[in-house]
Amino acid sequence: MDLRALRHWIFDLDGTLTLAVHDFDALRRDLGLPLGQPILEAVAERPPDEAQRLMRELDLLEARLVEETSAAPGASELLGELASRSCRLGILTRNSRENALATLEHCGLSAHFDAADVLGRDEVQPKPHPAGILTLLGSWSADTSAAVMLGDFRYDLEAGRAAGVMTVSVDPGGAHPFASLADHCVDSLAELVIGPP
Ligand SMILES: [Mg+2]
Repeated sequence: MDLRALRHWIFDLDGTLTLAVHDFDALRRDLGLPLGQPILEAVAERPPDEAQRLMRELDLLEARLVEETSAAPGASELLGELASRSCRLGILTRNSRENALATLEHCGLSAHFDAADVLGRDEVQPKPHPAGILTLLGSWSADTSAAVMLGDFRYDLEAGRAAGVMTVSVDPGGAHPFASLADHCVDSLAELVIGPP
């Protein structure tokens, strides 16, 4: 299947549409969480009151990172091109929706997305669960065979696989450690831009 024939594109945000700024171990230290465990899942294991407090702290810590974000090379060009081909574009992030919308604004990418198609950790069960992908496809009345999930981390690709959509590993370092979960690997979103006919 040619990627460019697909009309429904779902992106991870941090480190995929933007240059990576998250230091997840620093976040774990700030929150007092164990290293080596995914943050959202570690928080969920805490008693409800503490979990709620930790999530508020995480929202604030990640909000501070928004100022440091910038669009990844090729992101704006690819999104513009897909929009001009009337593709549906969505974002599925383990960040909060509020932070995601602020990041898109800060990076100059917000015009490409309907805010309703930006799903964060409070809207759906976070990746690697496929709920967010299936929710977006449901709202677009789209079939999994016409969709692709793109991301820089294992959870993005696992969510894509679990949903049954095509997956693209995006790794500016070119190492693609999760290539076994990906149908395509690109070092830059610019590789996906077709350019003018
Ligand atoms: Mg990411």
